Amino acid sequence: MSKPFASSTDLADKTQTLEVLADGVYALTAEGDPNVGAVEGEDFVVAFEARATPVAAREWLDRLREHTDKPVRYLVLSHCHAVRVLGASAFGAEQIVAHEATRALIAERGKADWDSELGRMPRLFKEPESIPGLTWPTVTFSDRLTIPLGGERGDLVLQHCGRGHTEGDIVAWLPGQRILFAGDLVETQAALYTGDAYHLDWMGPTLDRVASIGAEVLVGGRGAVAHGADVAGAIDQTRHFLTVLLEEVGAVHRDGGSLKDAFSAAHAALVEQYGRWPIFEHCLPFDVARAWDELSGVERPVIWTADRDRLVWDQLQA
Ligand SMILES: [Zn+2]
Repeated sequence: MSKPFASSTDLADKTQTLEVLADGVYALTAEGDPNVGAVEGEDFVVAFEARATPVAAREWLDRLREHTDKPVRYLVLSHCHAVRVLGASAFGAEQIVAHEATRALIAERGKADWDSELGRMPRLFKEPESIPGLTWPTVTFSDRLTIPLGGERGDLVLQHCGRGHTEGDIVAWLPGQRILFAGDLVETQAALYTGDAYHLDWMGPTLDRVASIGAEVLVGGRGAVAHGADVAGAIDQTRHFLTVLLEEVGAVHRDGGSLKDAFSAAHAALVEQYGRWPIFEHCLPFDVARAWDELSGVERPVIWTADRDRLVWDQLQA
């Protein structure tokens, strides 16, 4: 029998913490499970990220409803991954907003990604039969989209900082409060998933752009909310993980080693600093496989399917 995916045996619920970051600005973190957020407009709410199923999304909405009963006008999706988008129907949003590449990725590989992520991380898929189908963004943009929040609340600025965790990541920025929702472009004390990533762009110009925004509070894709100096710390940690991963895989690749050698080298170099952080063992085989492809000149990430997941996992983590 082959070894199960690391996250498929991780079944204990995480503690969920709702933080009010400023008047009408909320983040729900969950000990390394995907974070979500919300921003109040004058007479509506903008929700950030949708969770894996409508049932899981409703648990978040129940917490949010202790603070505001305004309707969700916009649901913003930071990127295309199933655990971030398939709960969308629970929000009853007027508009679902994403980068144009995110919509294209959902059309191209949304169903494969759904099957892949359900197999990898079943705990996040509370009552998967509640998912009505793929999530289709209704408003897309390429560079920047501003949502005026009304009254004295200022703007919420959605911005694409370049390719990174996927081809179409966006961040949500509140310039008045200097709060940034960074999606999976930045993780705070959680390991990175880079199976659909563009490592070179991400660790270079994309993170440079995220850093130049000048956030004082940062909600990453996973892990605790970063405040003050910890914002730069989270960005630096994300960049460090990517840099070490690419260096280690690159050295083996150049020397004519195997993918398994590359995995062993990356694991050895990263495990001391990141090994205890959530999803490290789970993500690393997929991260190494994509880094290997990128270094081999494969421009766009190969589609992950339930079968390919199994193949790579058995080859590297068995
Ligand atoms: Zn993701």
